[in-house]
Amino acid sequence: MKDYLIKATANNGKIRAYAVQSTNTIEEARRRQDTFATASAALGRTITITAMMGAMLKGDDSITTKVMGNGPLGAIVADADADGHVRGYVTNPHVDFDLNDKGKLDVARAVGTEGNISVIKDLGLKDFFTGETPIVSGEISEDFTYYYATSEQLPSAVGAGVLVNPDHTILAAGGFIVQVMPGAEEEVINELEDQIQAIPSISSLIREGKSPEEILTQLFGEECLTIHEKMPIEFRCKCSKDRLAQAIIGLGNDEIQAMIEEDQGAEATCHFCNEKYHFTEEELEDLKQ
Ligand code: ZN
Repeated sequence: MKDYLIKATANNGKIRAYAVQSTNTIEEARRRQDTFATASAALGRTITITAMMGAMLKGDDSITTKVMGNGPLGAIVADADADGHVRGYVTNPHVDFDLNDKGKLDVARAVGTEGNISVIKDLGLKDFFTGETPIVSGEISEDFTYYYATSEQLPSAVGAGVLVNPDHTILAAGGFIVQVMPGAEEEVINELEDQIQAIPSISSLIREGKSPEEILTQLFGEECLTIHEKMPIEFRCKCSKDRLAQAIIGLGNDEIQAMIEEDQGAEATCHFCNEKYHFTEEELEDLKQ
């Protein structure tokens, strides 16, 4: 089944909700980056949440999220657009630990429990929104919940889960974001908190094979939920030889000359998709300004 995301409202439009099934998207990220299980879970949760944050945007807007903890993973970076294209990478993909005492992949140990998450929304015409909040648990979902509450003042519940097969491929991945609309009464917020408390964890819902529709129905009940849109999502990278050429130009003429003399060319690898681009001596010569 192809990955997809749904946009919905609940409780008479006072709550907006997103849910996504991202198994293939996360498997593609895993395959390209060769992430081990714990790294796959951390990267997969971040990509899953970022895909939903992208779906909140319009037109050509895009979003970049970065989770920078003090754990061995290094940085986790993901970006997404409003059309369901998402990608991401992690600095150290071969991080893997034993399961934690709850029997789950130990994402917090890999991410670290200190650091920050930052969000940059590119809203076109040089209009940027940036927000940054501290990591609260390193489990990713809670960190984004905290981000929404403090940086955007939007009481939210964020959940994302990734299940990994023994051979390291992705068994299932998905998540949800539910948000109380601005101006909603305290009562709506409390009600939502109760609803969230009452449902099983996102990883168990995913393990049971629940669809995005079923996840939100479980949260709000069929009568309270209105689904407005269903859109496909996929891992897609925006890189091209031209974009990497721009990065090489940015290194400056001396650096380019060194590549020509010492390496007789250059190979540049895209962080996001691991695609390699080769530049010959002549091509490098042309990049000098
Ligand atoms: Zn790429």
